[in-house]
Amino acid sequence: MITPTALFAFDTLLTEEEREIRNTVRRVCDREIRPYVAQWFEAGELPARELARTLGSVGVLGMHLDGYGCAGMGAVSYGLACLELEAADSGLRSLVSVQGSLAMYAIWKYGSEEQKQEWLPAMAAGERIGCFGLTEPDFGSDPAGMRTTAKREGGDWVLNGTKMWITNGSVSDVAVVWARTDEGVRGFLVPAGTPGFTVNDVKHKISLRASVTSELVLDGVRLPDAAMLPGARGLSGPLGCLNEARFGIVFGAMGAALDCLETAIAYAGDREVFAKPLASFQLTQEKLADMALELGKGLLLAVHLGRLKEAGALTPEQVSAGKLNNVREALEIARKCRTLLGASGITLEYPVIRHSVNLESVLTYEGTSEIHSLVLGKALTGIAAFH
Ligand SMILES: Cc1cc2nc3c(=O)[nH]c(=O)nc-3n(C[C@H](O)[C@H](O)[C@H](O)COP(=O)(O)OP(=O)(O)OC[C@H]3O[C@@H](n4cnc5c(N)ncnc54)[C@H](O)[C@@H]3O)c2cc1C
Repeated sequence: MITPTALFAFDTLLTEEEREIRNTVRRVCDREIRPYVAQWFEAGELPARELARTLGSVGVLGMHLDGYGCAGMGAVSYGLACLELEAADSGLRSLVSVQGSLAMYAIWKYGSEEQKQEWLPAMAAGERIGCFGLTEPDFGSDPAGMRTTAKREGGDWVLNGTKMWITNGSVSDVAVVWARTDEGVRGFLVPAGTPGFTVNDVKHKISLRASVTSELVLDGVRLPDAAMLPGARGLSGPLGCLNEARFGIVFGAMGAALDCLETAIAYAGDREVFAKPLASFQLTQEKLADMALELGKGLLLAVHLGRLKEAGALTPEQVSAGKLNNVREALEIARKCRTLLGASGITLEYPVIRHSVNLESVLTYEGTSEIHSLVLGKALTGIAAFH
């Protein structure tokens, strides 16, 4: 017997350092996350502060950024960390993606020196948490329609509006908020507790339950000029951050799929139906073979995109291709694995249904599958079909 990753000799594509990083994150997940995550999911709670400190202590927060206490690792190392985290739960990978690729990246890329010094070292250590507020109740796929405004009043800015579906919202020390101004869309750092800034958690989710999702309400929030990110002008600012986070999902989704497939292979070996192991039936083997193929192809694509990113040659269209393919196939794998587990597949005793419902969110956030199809359609035809 060989593992699905060994079938593709996946490890031969990785450096020794990358394998070590992957193993370190896997050990942390085995020790700190896997034993508890089904309970967190069932309770709809996450000990985000403790987890952030743990993850900060092993250097995964903002690990692909340089300086300011960040680990400065390559894209493939970061991707492998996302893979291991999402093999535990998409909610954990979401915490890390939003912290490192959205909130920290926005400050690292567009922030002033003072903003970087103030926030990045503490965020890399997991002592402070960040969130990223772009989506609004009426504008998700089309952020250009945003209604949140920032108006100059004397030397200050005053923000009004509502952001919705914001990961890490109520556990954040700082929110990166994107708002419409007279000079186009600009980003602002809104510290928790600023007068007029309130955060309400989204309840009754049946996906990503081990993740905090919130509404951010800005009602006359007054900020000094120094709270604005000086380097971001227009929607290219937030879209640049989203591209970073999407890259992590290309790997992460394959982590969820791998955990499902490994669970299903073990289950099919143990479970007897019609007096024989489920794994011995041809229909079962066809399912397993098809899933292993899609998993392997997705992993190869992820590493290829990672190497392009490391060479500074990765395009947004290529990230869209990776996100679209790998999340779609991960969801298919999770659903097919669920069938192999029969009734047991619908309980939290096994991770499969949890991954499956989590991946429904992953399919939607960071650009829905439809939007990524439109990005690829535009790239292939030269015709934009968004409007
Ligand atoms: C758990 C979770 C966490 C999230 N975390 C964050 C976060 O941290 N920060 C943040 O800013 N946002 C976050 N989001 C929001 C997420 O990015 C949006 O939900 C997503 O962009 C889709 O927007 P929407 O939900 O408004 O759907 P809509 O934009 O209303 O889309 C509805 C449907 O219409 C389709 N559609 C849209 N436009 C077109 C078109 N031109 N042609 C064909 N079909 C189209 C979409 O693909 C979708 O199927 C999160 C969402 C979830 C579920």
